Amino acid sequence: MDARYKSRDIERRSLDVDSLKRSFLEWLVYSVGKDARAATRRDWFHTCALAVRDRVVDRWMDTTRTYYHEDAKRVYYLSLEFLIGRLLTNSLSNLGIIDECRQALDRLGLSMDDVVDSEPDAALGNGGLGRLAACFLDSMASQGLPGYGYGIRYEFGLFEQRFENGWQIEHPEQWLQFGNPWEFARPEVLYPVQFYGRVEEFRDSVGERAYRWVDTERVLAMAYDTPVVGYGGDTINTLRLWSARATSDFNFGHFNEGAYMKAVEQKILSENLSRVLYPNDATEIGKELRFKQEYFFTSASLQDILRRYLQHHTTFDNLPSKAAIQLNDTHPAIGIAELMRLLVDHHGLRWDKAWELTQATFAYTNHTLLPEALEAWPVRMVERILPRHMQIIYEINAKFLNRSKARAAGDNTRLSHLSLIDERGDRRVRMGNLAFLGSHKINGVSALHTELMKETVFADLHAEFPDRINNKTNGITPRRWLKQANPALSELISTRIGEGWISDLQQISALKEKADDVVFREEFRRAKRKNKKRLAAYIARQTGEEVQVDSLFDVQVKRMHEYKRQLLNVLHTVALYNEMRDNPTVSWVPVTKIFAGKAAPSYHMAKLIIKLINDVAKVVNHDPSVHDNLKVVYLPNYNVTAAEIIIPAADLSEQISTAGMEASGTGNMKLALNGALTIGTLDGANVEIREHVGADNIFIFGLTAEEVNDLRANGGFNPREVIASNPALKRALDMISTGAFSPDDRNRYHPILQALTDGGDHFLVTADFADYCRAQDAAMQLYRDPEEWTRRAILNTANMGWFSSDRTVNEYATEIWDVHPVKPTHDGEGFR
Ligand SMILES: *Cc1c(COP(=O)(O)O)cnc(C)c1O
Repeated sequence: MDARYKSRDIERRSLDVDSLKRSFLEWLVYSVGKDARAATRRDWFHTCALAVRDRVVDRWMDTTRTYYHEDAKRVYYLSLEFLIGRLLTNSLSNLGIIDECRQALDRLGLSMDDVVDSEPDAALGNGGLGRLAACFLDSMASQGLPGYGYGIRYEFGLFEQRFENGWQIEHPEQWLQFGNPWEFARPEVLYPVQFYGRVEEFRDSVGERAYRWVDTERVLAMAYDTPVVGYGGDTINTLRLWSARATSDFNFGHFNEGAYMKAVEQKILSENLSRVLYPNDATEIGKELRFKQEYFFTSASLQDILRRYLQHHTTFDNLPSKAAIQLNDTHPAIGIAELMRLLVDHHGLRWDKAWELTQATFAYTNHTLLPEALEAWPVRMVERILPRHMQIIYEINAKFLNRSKARAAGDNTRLSHLSLIDERGDRRVRMGNLAFLGSHKINGVSALHTELMKETVFADLHAEFPDRINNKTNGITPRRWLKQANPALSELISTRIGEGWISDLQQISALKEKADDVVFREEFRRAKRKNKKRLAAYIARQTGEEVQVDSLFDVQVKRMHEYKRQLLNVLHTVALYNEMRDNPTVSWVPVTKIFAGKAAPSYHMAKLIIKLINDVAKVVNHDPSVHDNLKVVYLPNYNVTAAEIIIPAADLSEQISTAGMEASGTGNMKLALNGALTIGTLDGANVEIREHVGADNIFIFGLTAEEVNDLRANGGFNPREVIASNPALKRALDMISTGAFSPDDRNRYHPILQALTDGGDHFLVTADFADYCRAQDAAMQLYRDPEEWTRRAILNTANMGWFSSDRTVNEYATEIWDVHPVKPTHDGEGFR
């Protein structure tokens, strides 16, 4: 190796303060192209990110090279969303150089917080599903698992939410506007992805029937790689995101200018494939562009996976022992048909062999039971856009239905449930059934959700394949959600029990005995208070509202959806407001109700509920008769960065979905880990959180999933009767319906009232109201006793070890993927 290169190499990899400072100055001038006096905060962020990236690259190449040399089995996590948020603190923290970087910036007269705040939030996801993918990337890298993320490099992430007169207004999220220092463009990693055209049948060299997909329109998928820094910096994995590029094969047969411009326009349009993330959470709208996005990234990823496999292998026999492909929901499920197409049409495998390999390679995670969220694409559309895939789906279906037990028993109803095609109305391809059939394992994301999967959506497929469905309860990474987001608490924890919890969260259980230690409780409270002050300042900046740091911070932050029941929370808010006004002499526990979350732009009911919360806030916050004992704030633009400020400051965590409707939730885990007490229904992972933290340390209320099911099935629920018999509820609803919060438009909230009465209250808001208020009262009463509250808060933190995504990923690795940690070989120079 060239000696000069080597010394520079070592300098670039050194992690001490001086070397970081020298790198910053060098990068600022030679890469950002700015003089220190002219540099903006954003320039310094780019400088800092590039210098940190330098310290990652060698280890990244070492990691990739080791996987290659060992021909390690890799896991490929295919996800339409990766909600990763900011990366600077994450990279510094996982490399263990936060303090060094802070000092280096300090010596340059810069505040690290300002630099950190200049990074845009990579919002390449809607909510829980995308954040799960990001937590899994961190956990795979931190445990040395050879894991790759594959997704789309959206030019516009999830829209930016602002409020105008309390209404949600969407603005484009231009996170790439000033460039992205973390990514490496790979213009040479380019795959064609085809659409439309037709299928030709022919006889292959041995006279077998074979198929050719011809006259297609082609788009190119170009790779952008982002290093995923594992904790300790030993393993650096890859997140590969695809960007659409037009092909250069212009049809120069058209010589007149109009046709030429038309061809150019066509090319430009093809790049729209990676333009924007669909802002739907748990509700699909059957849009053609969305389907094309799904196929685009899935096809590119599979071509890339097969290319990597073929570097070491000449047949496909070992594919399942070298590659595990996890489908994050059905969004990449077309990959089942795509792999069959690649194996059969391109590589000449026999159908049965290809099917065996496909099933052994794929596994599928289901994320929702909501019927409106189960993807089902019109057969006519699939036929037009992917004609060969439609044939393959028919073939899979025919072979499966022919062999199924239902056919043997002559049970046509069951047969129709098993089919890949929903024959009711316009015929549709059931992507969930396709993902199920093409996978060897299918998992739900919490114990309850997995059981409900077996009883509902996949009841018939489960009967057919009783060994396929298994549970993998979600988890969250303790690096981002405790160590980085909550330095006050994580430093306290580390001084008491050491740093082992960061990579082995089960060790946090050592805090249990500290719950009875009055000094530790005091320190725990001090950390919480520090976080609450930080949040209060953020609230003041964002909303102009002053909140009391010592009030109970009651937090509901998540996507806005009727099943998540923000409406139940705001109804309680109105009832509490009334109680406080009626009893001004009582010494009330001061409460700050904190909401945040985006609504899908087309989800009118959700947007109306946002407006209601903002309208209630306007009235409550300015009513002197409640003496500042109640404040309501709706923080705009909930994203990972906002979550990192809000969650460490929460006292009470609202997890109040209608039982049976939230698959798992992960916000519930982040909040409990940060010492918030949960008020929640027995839904999703709340059930398991209760088991771990203990029933005494959580406020459970409401109908169970079984009771919800019975109530709906028997039609024995009349919301009007419930409302009439509950004066507090009736009064709150009357105020809303008569314009107490909307004097400018008294009819504004009729759709909400309508849904709760004539609409039958599908989400059982009224049914759970009384018990919710009881649980809220219990929480407020407990908050009067800071010692007891803190004791329970500590027990929450101490008992959340099992909810680390390290545990989840390990379960996937051993029970589904059969992948094992690989220790990268580093040459070791200059890196501690
Ligand atoms: C964790 C997280 C979610 C998921 O929250 P739930 O309460 O589980 O729905 C959504 N958005 C962001 C930004 C998150 O960090």
